Amino acid sequence: MNFDQMSEPLDRRLADGLTRLAAVARQLDWQAAAAAGLSPTQADILRFIANRPDGARLTAAAAHVGVRKATASDAVAALERKTLVCKYADAADARAVALKATPDGNRAAQAWPSSFAPIVAGLSPAEQESLLRMVIKMIRHLQQRHLIAPQRTCVTCRHFRENVAPGTSTPHFCAFVGAPMAERHLRVDCAEHASAA
Ligand code: SF4
Repeated sequence: MNFDQMSEPLDRRLADGLTRLAAVARQLDWQAAAAAGLSPTQADILRFIANRPDGARLTAAAAHVGVRKATASDAVAALERKTLVCKYADAADARAVALKATPDGNRAAQAWPSSFAPIVAGLSPAEQESLLRMVIKMIRHLQQRHLIAPQRTCVTCRHFRENVAPGTSTPHFCAFVGAPMAERHLRVDCAEHASAA
């Protein structure tokens, strides 16, 4: 007998570990939501809207959080009653409605604790940088397979110039900022993101 024969497949053990980490983060998010008087869905939607100061559509919020539009609509109605979110006419489409966070909503979103902070705290800066690159790679893979709503990551941004200075400490370049980037600078949710699609 050896461990190659005795072990569960690598991808299954990896999935088990990631599932446990996600459960811890989710539990911390639920605790933070309860402390703020919000349901987990309301909390997710509030943070999604607050990250989009120009306004967010309900459909995009529902897709990001992974709930049906009707569920997202109920959550937004509750957030409106709590004066954390307001509806505005969408500047890009007069018939559409944009959702924006109120000052109270922005304050609540900015004060939100990072649920993954205690999880990644055990990694060195170099390990965190490697993990960031892997997380972005996994998000890009999911996006290509249409298994995740479009994300505002550097690797799907038309301003991103990937590996234009190979072998250097800052191999990438952001044409929006006009500055070179290291792996550790890659963003998962950038407000200036412009879809390359
Ligand atoms: S604009 Fe934002 S998402 Fe796009 S490349 Fe620059 S930092 Fe990355």
